[in-house]
Amino acid sequence: MAAEDFTPGLNFIRTIIEADIKAAKNGGRVHTRFPPEPNGYLHIGHAKSICLNFGLAAEYRGLCNLRFDDTNPGKEDVEYVDSIMADVRWLGFDWQDRLYYASDYFEQLYQFALHLIRTGKAYVCALTADQMREYRGTLTDPGKNSPCRDRSPEESLDLFQRMRAGEFPDGAYVLRARIDMASPNLNMRDPVLYRIRRESHHRTGDRWCIYPMYDYTHPISDALEGITHSICTLEFEDHRPFYDWVLDQLPVPCHPQQIEFARLNLSYTVMSKRKLLELVDKAYVRGWDDPRLPTIAGLRRRGYTPEAIRYFAELVGVAKRESMVDMALLEHCLREDLNRRARRVMAVLRPLKVVITNYPEHQVEELAAENNPEDPGMGTRKLPFSREIYIEQDDFREDPPKKFFRLSPGKEIRLKHAYYIRCDQVVKDTSGNISELRCSYDPDSRGGGTQDGRKVLGTSHWVSAAHAVDAEVRLYDKLLSVPDPADEKEGKDFKEYLNPVSLEIVKGCKLEPGLAAASPGDRFQFLRQGYFCVDSDSSPEQLVFNRAVTLRDSWAKIEKARQNK
Ligand code: ATP
Ligand code: MG
Repeated sequence: MAAEDFTPGLNFIRTIIEADIKAAKNGGRVHTRFPPEPNGYLHIGHAKSICLNFGLAAEYRGLCNLRFDDTNPGKEDVEYVDSIMADVRWLGFDWQDRLYYASDYFEQLYQFALHLIRTGKAYVCALTADQMREYRGTLTDPGKNSPCRDRSPEESLDLFQRMRAGEFPDGAYVLRARIDMASPNLNMRDPVLYRIRRESHHRTGDRWCIYPMYDYTHPISDALEGITHSICTLEFEDHRPFYDWVLDQLPVPCHPQQIEFARLNLSYTVMSKRKLLELVDKAYVRGWDDPRLPTIAGLRRRGYTPEAIRYFAELVGVAKRESMVDMALLEHCLREDLNRRARRVMAVLRPLKVVITNYPEHQVEELAAENNPEDPGMGTRKLPFSREIYIEQDDFREDPPKKFFRLSPGKEIRLKHAYYIRCDQVVKDTSGNISELRCSYDPDSRGGGTQDGRKVLGTSHWVSAAHAVDAEVRLYDKLLSVPDPADEKEGKDFKEYLNPVSLEIVKGCKLEPGLAAASPGDRFQFLRQGYFCVDSDSSPEQLVFNRAVTLRDSWAKIEKARQNK
């Protein structure tokens, strides 16, 4: 099924939203948000969340905000902010004038904290981090009240204002919610709302030395923006009671509904920002946009299209249970898209020279070649053909096994869009390596057929030697050598499972001449080799292509096997 024929099905989130609209909840409005923390580049898991939030808003004629959840100054950076905006736009979504930062609410969050203190719902606590952990209890044992828990609102107000004024060192105090130290939900055992941290913030500079916690900031930010459905991943399910508690205590304009779905996990790769950052920082890969990474920047550089990623996001859908999605499905989505759109061209990755001895020297003829058999509207191009050409080394065997339908001594193959050639002689260098083939062509087979109807099973791609352009081609394989490091031996670091051959650089590739004009981001199908994208390192002097994906659709095969069962 192609991306454009796909109709989205009902899922549990759509069911909730449709019921809310029917009941005229929120006046029938749908308002979502995508809330990244700017502490890394976005990955395919975020893409799923982006497609979901922006997609639902579009579907129900609502709105979706982009909000940076920037409450952690130490790890955040404007480089990440910029890359996130570029990635969301590239995926095809638009937040219009609704770009927000949690840091824009710091003053309001502070005022709300004062409100909580005044109403007896929060107190300033002097326990150290270790003591806090000890007082917190466990899943089976209730926690103990902090000795500071009965501090009067006046005293807490005074201390909290002085925390803001910078009178105390980092870690001296925290502001905590006063809820229930015996709650079976650990998140409700007087969670921390504010901590003292002397760290410059990429937006507010040194204006603040206290910073609000994510769990406190998030519900208030949602409410201030009039969000109706606050969609997040499953690990926040246990935080929902606190999300609701915060909003119930405060005079906020509305009370958004938090809805959780299972995060996307993809086989053979890593999706945690911490791990991605480690691979980038320690130079296991070439940067955040390394085509081996599942980052949006990496996928884009590799040759992925926004359409393929959106299609993938819809296909995997949303669920309440965690699962591992096969990387083959993502690749399948790209093939589906590029199959319709990518121009077919010929490129010889590992060239073997062929001299066509009966073809006139200095003669060049132009042969017509279709650009995409899937779409005749994409037209044709002219390919130069001459006496010396290159074919793929793999397309020749001196000593062929049975059922080898390509070229071997005395055998014939069809050259795509051109003629039949027969191998007459194998020329070797002094060390015994094949240096060229001497072949003869059948002038009557132009275009790929003959009058006598003789059978030629193999078809090879080729390029004219004199006209070919040189290129470097980068072939990629899986980032990890196992589907899920968590399934492997315990105690091993994920980096021990990095695939040592995830990148192969092939130099001296020979491409058809039209590709000299290709520019970064252009995508093609190299016949029989896969879909390729011009890399950002590429220049007219040195063309560089990335293989986005091979042509073998293992997902389609898996699906077929499943249906036949
Ligand atoms: P971390 O918790 O390591 O900071 P994160 O992946 O949760 O990383 P955020 O920037 O907080 O990063 O994520 C932004 C949004 O994207 C959140 O709403 C989060 O739930 C969602 N998201 C993150 N990872 C995935 C994933 N693998 N699948 C689906 N949604 C995800
Ligand atoms: Mg997060």
